[in-house]
Amino acid sequence: MTALCKKIILLGPPGAGKGTHACMLSKRLDIPHISTGDILREAVNKGNRLGLVARGFMNRGELVPDNIMAEIITNRLRKKDVREKGFMLDGFPRTQAQAEALERTLRGGADIVLYFKTSADVCISRLSGRRICKVCGANYHIKNIPPKKEGVCDECKGPLYQRQDDKEDTIRKRLRVYNKQTSSLINYFRRQGILKEVNGDIDLKPLHRIIVKLLM
Ligand code: AMP
Repeated sequence: MTALCKKIILLGPPGAGKGTHACMLSKRLDIPHISTGDILREAVNKGNRLGLVARGFMNRGELVPDNIMAEIITNRLRKKDVREKGFMLDGFPRTQAQAEALERTLRGGADIVLYFKTSADVCISRLSGRRICKVCGANYHIKNIPPKKEGVCDECKGPLYQRQDDKEDTIRKRLRVYNKQTSSLINYFRRQGILKEVNGDIDLKPLHRIIVKLLM
């Protein structure tokens, strides 16, 4: 399936479902999914220089500094897959400075910004119940998407773990950081005329169908 919109930004609070939707959309529309959170977590796991800098910010639920993030995204957007197929940005930009850096890199704007309007209660419940496979990265939820066997991945039998920043205190901090540093981007993109709001509280499949229509 080919989408009309190929430069896509997913915006919304942590727990809005951006990552889950980005995975599904990326497979269906063949557009690279770029999650800055995933890029940073990979660096932390490797223990490289970026990972060592990012780890503290991430564990505290704070944002990694803008200059580091701008460099990561500029390098990623230069790659061949993005030049050929576009991108689906999940978790970037998160500040005004990042949005401006992105525009400089793109020499213009994105085609569409999908804003996942999601209530805090839903975000907290999704994140606090989230479990991830250590081996293949598959996502579960202890109530909504439980694995067949507790603590074990259905796909690859790897062990499931809870992200350090998915503990309740850190979730609340991440939501505060979102409200303070990221939520103003809603109006920023609305003024550019590229913002489309969707209801992040609703179930995965109906929302996926709505989003696919918006991108066609
Ligand atoms: P996420 O997986 O998108 O929830 O991101 C996890 C954590 O990575 C965030 O809480 C931040 O510490 C960091 N992070 C991810 N993307 C960004 C970004 N665009 N700017 C700053 N920090 C980020």
